[in-house]
Amino acid sequence: MDQDERFDVYIGSLEAELPDWLAGLERRAAADGIPIVRKQTQSLLRMLLVLKKPERILEIGTAVGFSALFMSEYAPAGCRITTIEKYEKRIPAARENFRQAGRDDRIVLVEGDAGEILPELTGGYDFIFMDGAKGQYIHFLPDVLRLLNAGGILVSDNVLQGGDILESRFAVTRRDRTIHARMRAYLYELKHNRELETVILTAGDGTAVSVKI
Ligand code: SAM
Repeated sequence: MDQDERFDVYIGSLEAELPDWLAGLERRAAADGIPIVRKQTQSLLRMLLVLKKPERILEIGTAVGFSALFMSEYAPAGCRITTIEKYEKRIPAARENFRQAGRDDRIVLVEGDAGEILPELTGGYDFIFMDGAKGQYIHFLPDVLRLLNAGGILVSDNVLQGGDILESRFAVTRRDRTIHARMRAYLYELKHNRELETVILTAGDGTAVSVKI
C-alpha cells in the first residue's frame, strides 16, 4: 500500500457512519455493481451542503438515487432536488428508493438525456452535482452555468478518471481518447472561465468544486 492509499484508509476509518437506511442502500448498490458516489466525495458533499444550505439542487446522473437521497439527508429539510437519469433500467429502482425513504415529495426524477433536458430547465439552483457521463460534462457546462445561481456551487465528480487524465492521449485506449480530451477541456474551462472559481481535488476519483462568482 502506498502512502496515498494509507491516507485513504486512515481518513476512511474516521468517517461518521451513515444512517442505517442509507448505508443499506449503499451496500445494495455496491453488491449490484451500481456506480455511486465514493466515501470521500460523500464527505465533501456533506460538508458543502451544510455550508451552503441549498434550497434547490440539480443532479445529473441519478443511478438508483443514492446520492440524491444522501444530499436530501444533509441539505435543509425544505430543499428540493431535481435529478436526471437516462438509463431506463435504473429509473424504477430510483423511484422506489425515493418512495421507501419517504423523500419522493422532495426529489423529482426527470427521465431522459441530460443533453436534451438541461436546455429545457429554468434556474436557479444553488447546488449542482455533475455525475453523469464524463465525456459530456463539457457539453453540459453552458446550461449548468446558466442554471447555477451566483454564489452557487458546482461539484463535478470523477474528473481524474482513475489517473487516465495524467496520461498522454496516445497512452489511453482509442475508446477513452475522446473522453480524455473532453475531460481535459472541461477542467481547463472550470479553471479559466471568468464566471467560476474552481479547486480540483484528488480525493476519490477526483472532484472539482466550483463556485459561480
Ligand atoms: N449520482 C449517482 C450516485 O452517486 O448515487 C451515481 C451516478 S452514476 C456514476 C452515473 C449515472 O449517470 C448513470 O446511471 C448513467 O446512466 C447516468 N447518465 C449518464 N449520462 C447521462 C445523460 N446524458 N443523461 C442522463 N443520465 C446520464
